[in-house]
Amino acid sequence: MSAELDQLGEAIEDRLSGLDQIGAGADGFTRLAWSEEDAESMAWFKRQAAELGLTVERDRAGNLWAAPDVDPPWLTVGSHLDTVRDGGRYDGALGVACAFEIAAASDRPLAVVSFADEEGGRYNSPTFGSRALVGRLDVAEALERTDANGVSLRQAMAEAGVDPDLLAAAPEDLGRVETMIEIHIDQSRELFEAGVPAGVVSSLASRMRLAIELTGEADHAGTTRREERRDAMAAAARLIVSALDLAEPHPGFVVTPGKLLVDPNAPTTVPARVQLWLDARATAPELLNEWREELVASAELIAATSRVGITVETAAHSQGVVFDQSVREALQRAATANGSQTDEVVCFAGHDAGVIGEQRPAGMVLVRNERGISHSGAEFVELSDAAAATKIVIDAIKEL
Ligand SMILES: [Zn+2]
Repeated sequence: MSAELDQLGEAIEDRLSGLDQIGAGADGFTRLAWSEEDAESMAWFKRQAAELGLTVERDRAGNLWAAPDVDPPWLTVGSHLDTVRDGGRYDGALGVACAFEIAAASDRPLAVVSFADEEGGRYNSPTFGSRALVGRLDVAEALERTDANGVSLRQAMAEAGVDPDLLAAAPEDLGRVETMIEIHIDQSRELFEAGVPAGVVSSLASRMRLAIELTGEADHAGTTRREERRDAMAAAARLIVSALDLAEPHPGFVVTPGKLLVDPNAPTTVPARVQLWLDARATAPELLNEWREELVASAELIAATSRVGITVETAAHSQGVVFDQSVREALQRAATANGSQTDEVVCFAGHDAGVIGEQRPAGMVLVRNERGISHSGAEFVELSDAAAATKIVIDAIKEL
């Protein structure tokens, strides 16, 4: 590794270590949005900004900006400082730490951003800050949401010093962004398998979440004959297998039956009602639409043979986003020049850069993650790989 990369890696580690005491527990880091830990992270952010002579501002969505001394729009680099419960050291924080190094190395004025509540761990509101900026947040609905302790988002924001009544005007703050680039830990083993320290993201995968309700009839597990049963759980099991099978022919298409609620959920009662959530992600939006159609047809067949009522609703749907061509090309050239030559990757997780990318030129660089683990205390990246990703962005922005 060159001396330049060595130094960069050490500088990134230096910054990251400043977050090591915030929300640290036995199983990882917990820094939920609008919390005390969030406030401590903000203090860390302010220290990094002050060293570089950047001015810290908080926009109407609570996003943190380390702004240069010129008028916006700014070339923007950053990620997020919040975590899931028992999250890792690198998801989000790495991108912000690298962003400060990019700002330190760049002779162009640029802004560092830390988006508010990227993980959505407290209010089930992922990419909150970036969605507020692009106007894709149902503000009235979001503000009334409550956390596990019954605290509304409205109250939590106010206590954190962000006026909830200004949230609806957050899209005006998108004017700060000219182009946005995010560095993030790879949440798969793809770059490790490709043998490169960092990789450029072409697009974020399309995602769909289905909420499915199956309605049968509760009855005795022993005395109810097979032909009399209306078993909602057995029907759900068939539907899950069907959902997985329908995705099977398409490479990269992943389906997760992530959540199941069973009623009455008793060992000796035929299940009367099941709520099932399916998360599906694919490289192209049309694949998801076809899959949904086929799954609905399959649900009708299962409903007919099992005499269980099945309704399928789309709870969330995102088309995915293709990152800006010129940003991608600049990043790819820099990656190749820095020994990280590989095909662009499709990212299957949601990210702030993807949300901003709906309305502004944006790009992403992922950092190799040997174990592929994230959202866990076991998350790990090599500093030399983080340095390589940072160098790629430093070189790319010279061209932008
Ligand atoms: Zn993240």
